[in-house]
Amino acid sequence: MPEEAAPAEPRGWRALVLGERTTPRGREADTAVIKAIRGTRDLLPPETAVWNFVEAEVRDLFRAYNFQEIRTPIFEETQLFARSVGEETDIVGKEMYSWEDRTRRDGERAQSLTLRPENTAGVVRAYIEHKLWERGLNKLYYIGPQFRRERPQKGRYRQFYQIGAEVIGPASAGSESAARDAEILELLATLLDRLGIEDWHLQLNSIGCSADRARYNEALQEALAPLAAKMCADCQRRAMRNPLRVFDCKVPEDQPRIETLPRMSQYLDEPCRKHFEQVQEILSAVGVPFALNDRLVRGLDYYTRTAFEFTHGALGAQNAILGGGRYDGLSELLGGPKAPGIGFAIGEDRLVLALNRPAESVQRKPDVYIAPLGPGMNSEAARLARELRCHPIVAELGDESFRLKKSFETATKLGARYILIVGEKEVKSDAFALKNLESGEQVLVPRTELPPRLRS
Ligand code: AMP
Repeated sequence: MPEEAAPAEPRGWRALVLGERTTPRGREADTAVIKAIRGTRDLLPPETAVWNFVEAEVRDLFRAYNFQEIRTPIFEETQLFARSVGEETDIVGKEMYSWEDRTRRDGERAQSLTLRPENTAGVVRAYIEHKLWERGLNKLYYIGPQFRRERPQKGRYRQFYQIGAEVIGPASAGSESAARDAEILELLATLLDRLGIEDWHLQLNSIGCSADRARYNEALQEALAPLAAKMCADCQRRAMRNPLRVFDCKVPEDQPRIETLPRMSQYLDEPCRKHFEQVQEILSAVGVPFALNDRLVRGLDYYTRTAFEFTHGALGAQNAILGGGRYDGLSELLGGPKAPGIGFAIGEDRLVLALNRPAESVQRKPDVYIAPLGPGMNSEAARLARELRCHPIVAELGDESFRLKKSFETATKLGARYILIVGEKEVKSDAFALKNLESGEQVLVPRTELPPRLRS
């Protein structure tokens, strides 16, 4: 293994990394409290119980649709995102956390690496690297953090979590079929319904194939020629280099001009139009409501044909709860074989916000608080806890140094259903005082009968 070259210590490094200051008395360490970086946050209990609930439901649903989990690295070569998401997109142009990796002693060049801003590119890279087409149609899902340097606000973070899925494979395995698009959309509608999220809206568009896009981009460029000079700096650049991205513009003054631009729906060729019609037909057949929105182009370059977004009324400015679409040319763009695909990414942070579910409703409180009473009882209580937890019973263990009053107080504070007293007398008779903390009823229960009683 070649060794990493020791990095040169830049001037001021200690001050930057350790927060040391030089004072007249010499070097002084900074002891200020360190906080999480702006735009990142700690997810704490009990809220994490809601996240666990969501993830368990999602995994369950993915299983029903025969998806399997994939985990790709959190950082990849910068080029992967530049090539797939597109250099002119906001994500690649402004929002990526990239850095130059150290040069190695063996002379290998320094690489530009990036914290993944999204996961589709990583999944398709893995598809190519591991020749996953040899398995036919791949239905893969992931759950994990993504990173974008965006302006933080409610529902928008610099580290956020996505739950996503991809259906990718050779066309011969059916990956190009409109049936895949409709199935993905139906899965998403089912997921939101199952989680109890009402008030969702599915917006649907087709952004055509690459030939349609070329003709459309030409038309856009023509229409933008007299307008661009009056638009924002980003739009002026987009008009020249990637006119479709003008639809990503959020500047209010530009919106009336964008409204006048030609729409993609007029540029779809016959196969793309038929494909889109079929998606709509199946959605109607399975009862998934949708609205057509021909301004929806999604902020990533790799999309083709079907593009969609689910929005939610209660989320305010950041109302897109999930988005996705087809990406039929992405594999080839990354050096792989032809492999049509479609996928989506749900913003888990926003999903949890939209769910508006009190953590208490999904949190599992301890079934029993085991209170060792008196010296030497910690071992007996530990033995009992070990037995009960196998059943599986959620058991919290006290300490022999606690007085009974403190054990009761702790058990109540934790919301335990029962308290179990483990004293010398109980151990000798192998029967334990069990008190229901809700009803106040107390009974003596033989060891063997504890599990069924605690589970009931
Ligand atoms: P995208 O990868 O841009 O298509 O985004 C898919 C979904 O991820 C969006 O609909 C959001 O729900 C979520 N998302 C994107 N960016 C952020 C962010 N900065 N913070 C929180 N969620 C985000």
